[in-house]
Amino acid sequence: MTDIGATENTTKLDFDAVVVGAGIAGLYAVYKLREMGLSVRGIDAAPAVGGTWYWNCYPGARVDSQSYIYQYWFSDELIKEWDWPERFPAQPVVEQYLNFVTDKFQLDKEYAFNTRVTSADWDNDKQCWTVGTDQGDKLTTRYFISCTGMLSEPKIPAFEGQEKFKGVIAHTARYPREGIDLKGKRVGVIGCGATGIQVIQTIASEVEHLTVFQRTASYGVAMHNEKFDDAARDHWRSKAKELQETVYNSFVGFDYDFEHGSWYDLTPEQRYEVLEEKWQEGSLSMWVGTFPELFTDQAVNDEISDFVREKIRARIKDPKIADLVTPRNHGFGTYRVPLENGYYDVFNQDNVELIDARNTPIEGFTETGIKIGGRDIALDVVILATGFNAGTGSLTKMNIHGRDDRSLTTEFDEDIRTTMGLQIHGYPNLFTVAGPLAPSAAFCNMTTCLQQQVDWVTDCIAYLRDHHHQSIEPTVEKQDEWVAHHDEVANATLLTATQSWYTGANIEGKPSRLISYIGGVSEYHRICDEVQASGYEGFSKA
Ligand code: NAP
Repeated sequence: MTDIGATENTTKLDFDAVVVGAGIAGLYAVYKLREMGLSVRGIDAAPAVGGTWYWNCYPGARVDSQSYIYQYWFSDELIKEWDWPERFPAQPVVEQYLNFVTDKFQLDKEYAFNTRVTSADWDNDKQCWTVGTDQGDKLTTRYFISCTGMLSEPKIPAFEGQEKFKGVIAHTARYPREGIDLKGKRVGVIGCGATGIQVIQTIASEVEHLTVFQRTASYGVAMHNEKFDDAARDHWRSKAKELQETVYNSFVGFDYDFEHGSWYDLTPEQRYEVLEEKWQEGSLSMWVGTFPELFTDQAVNDEISDFVREKIRARIKDPKIADLVTPRNHGFGTYRVPLENGYYDVFNQDNVELIDARNTPIEGFTETGIKIGGRDIALDVVILATGFNAGTGSLTKMNIHGRDDRSLTTEFDEDIRTTMGLQIHGYPNLFTVAGPLAPSAAFCNMTTCLQQQVDWVTDCIAYLRDHHHQSIEPTVEKQDEWVAHHDEVANATLLTATQSWYTGANIEGKPSRLISYIGGVSEYHRICDEVQASGYEGFSKA
């Protein structure tokens, strides 16, 4: 038991703070809270650190942000000591990086691994949370900080007859750590989002036969990856301070922004030059570094979408397959743009078949494979790249009850409302890093937004301590104000019209709302800073 000296309350609590998650946000939160002198318990269902980068160990998993901006900024030593091997590192490297950070700051000693939070209940009299786990713990804590990630609750569709299948089924976010031997196997992949693309392009040459079940085609942008030598690493290291400043003040937390002004100020030739230049960069700058009108103006979006469609078509020999793999039912950039590395070329291979699972939906599984369009497709392994219950999935699973026994699961089932994605009315001292309605929900280079949010949370806790408050929560008016602002910004874009996890459309019955704030990372930071500078105006403190 520790005395909650941090907030000068006489109640004995087990910990000042409980942090759920040992990914990028959770590790940083544990580090910062401990530096502040708080007692902290980290909890993670996995046996080790990594979060997203622990679970998503599927073949070909790789980060779509450049390594030199996908890192922690808080320690110069860390930046100096860690060597990024390439521009876009693969999953094992990011996992190694997070282990390196953990070892360097001995963060794992604060964690309980192999432990899942199963309940969290707010006690208004004692002003604390009781956090229950599947290991039988009942931990009392002043602050309950969820760092469970945006994309951690897999969407695992239940196909008819799935239990009969004699082969192996694996969701990408629960892929066996030891891997699956795919050599010489007949493999099916369901899903062609950012994850499916990485799996398909990686395994196509290894398997005997690959069947790709595509319901929605993606606009893949060709990734230009490159190995780093010492000179390249030194170059990026020398720019670390500048990069940190740049990403915090950009639209989506990257080191590029809309630098070419308005689409309408340029001639058609100049616009084409910008698009071609961005295409050649081989990064997400093709999406979030071209023209702001991409997100708001249908005519501009149509032209940029056509530009990308042409690039895709040019890669595929068979015109029928080219038709199928070229996206038609949504505009470029209105849903996460994946980077690809050989993905489209795979469809020129003889051992790869692309099946239209939109016009002929999957009927179900048989003992030996998948039934679709009257055909029985024999398969040894099926990989589900079917996505996630984004944003809310991991929060609602924890069975959180706030003031007056209100249930977050019930509330989110009806309407997804938060205050800046960081706090929720009715749930004092619950902080939701990467929660819904913040840029970190989808529209940000994750390391940028997660660090900014953890800084906001820990500064808020320091404020409570310094001002002898025991708890904080947004007023209902403050929350309504944020949700109204969020909706106004979202509804002015083309994103709300596209059916995807961005709007909750991938989960049956999920309330529809753009999951991510799209007013821009820099604007979001400005608002967060303003709230902090005002002494948390619009928040009740007890
Ligand atoms: P996703 O974008 O939601 O894609 C899931 C795919 O599965 C979609 O094509 C979907 O089709 C299909 N699908 C779902 N249920 C299906 C069913 N019952 N039958 C047939 N098809 C079905 O999920 P994701 O690819 O895992 O990506 C999620 C996010 O993770 C990305 O948007 C990105 O933010 C992140 N991610 C990042 C990286 C990176 O940084 N490199 C890599 C991978 C993922 P419909 O669209 O028709 O439903």
